Amino acid sequence: MKAKDPICSFCGRRKSESLMLISGLDGHICDQCADQAQKIVEKELGGSANANNIDGAPTRSVGGSSQEGGNKRLPKPAELKAFLDQYVIGQDQAKKTLSVSVYNHYKRLNSKKNAIPGDVEIEKSNILMIGETGTGKTLMAKTLAKILDVPFCIADATVLTEAGYVGEDVESIISRLLQVANYKPELAERGIIYLDEMDKIARKGDNASITRDVSGEGVQQGLLKILEGTLAHVAPEGGRKHPDQKYIKVDTTNILFICGGAFDGIEKIISRRVQKQAVGFKSSHNKEIQDKKLLSLVAPSDLRSFGLIPELIGRLPILTALEPLDKDTLKLILTDPKNALIKQYQHLFALDKINLEFDAAAIDYIAEIAFENKLGARGLRGICESILQDFMYEGPSAKSKNALTITRAIAEEKWNRADSQKYA
Ligand code: ADP
Repeated sequence: MKAKDPICSFCGRRKSESLMLISGLDGHICDQCADQAQKIVEKELGGSANANNIDGAPTRSVGGSSQEGGNKRLPKPAELKAFLDQYVIGQDQAKKTLSVSVYNHYKRLNSKKNAIPGDVEIEKSNILMIGETGTGKTLMAKTLAKILDVPFCIADATVLTEAGYVGEDVESIISRLLQVANYKPELAERGIIYLDEMDKIARKGDNASITRDVSGEGVQQGLLKILEGTLAHVAPEGGRKHPDQKYIKVDTTNILFICGGAFDGIEKIISRRVQKQAVGFKSSHNKEIQDKKLLSLVAPSDLRSFGLIPELIGRLPILTALEPLDKDTLKLILTDPKNALIKQYQHLFALDKINLEFDAAAIDYIAEIAFENKLGARGLRGICESILQDFMYEGPSAKSKNALTITRAIAEEKWNRADSQKYA
């Protein structure tokens, strides 16, 4: 009889908990054990197989950032999402959208290699993620790059200015990616760039600066070419540009740009548009619209009203919204991801032979503080750090080390003391 959810015969992990489960005659092996087994074989045979050090990620590079790379099986969208699920809590719609677009992007690149002349040319689809800060935008882009093993870098749109102005020029982003790719343009050309703070380069409307529009339309114009595909001339080894210098040429046509921004206030624009469209509908329809999370209804026209130029919007055809994190999600973020904060602290204490536990009420309290103070997921670490600081200070030199359980009362006391010190 076949089990409903087969398990890995080596580690006992269920199929639903692993990226992949390969069946044999009499058992199964999960992707992680297969990876481990490969490493053992390599070690024993002193082999040259190309091992990859990413947990659960397939073993050879899809984008070719591993030395030989380029011939690995491209994970299917469902596999990409399953991998994201291990690190990112919630955000199901965004995870799905991203998995599909990233899969399509690399499928397109792989098919380009074997293109038949006159074939349909599939265009690149860069992505724009909209959501409050600290909701997992960067984490998602980073995690995808990790599973695909392609060069990845994060850049901030706000530091960019039009070339010639003080600040970084747009090509500096490519230079950072090239650096990550060990100055191999052919690797950088298949990489992913996460471009943050896209909302901050929006046109400022009526109150535009009377001097120069340093952070607005000019930067958007500058980004256009790079997003679409251009030959960027990058100074080698990250140096400053110099007229007589030899540049490394990087073609940005196949670099995937995942952009993100909070777009504060866009809900009002969306709401206005949706209400207008809803005129004449029954009031229940309006109610339905209100109930839906407004951000998930975001459309390109809203971005235009927000201040992005149409050409830029056109180059970011995949649009997805991230949900704000509620208290329950924050609780899960503390405990559930593969490298969850609580697991990290437990590991840190275990190194000093201290068994650290948090009771449910303490977890609840930490999430509550992050939520009520609008600190989001990014605030969780700071709160944990304040609560645990005394223990991390005293623990390693304590004579009797064994167990430490953080209760709500302890958490409250430590946090209140840290908090009052901050405002003293
Ligand atoms: P953003 O790019 O949206 O501002 P990040 O992805 O940088 O936010 O998130 C900040 C930190 O918060 C991450 O390092 C991660 O630890 C945590 N985090 C945020 N959202 C999530 C989530 N949905 N699941 C798990 N961790 C999250």
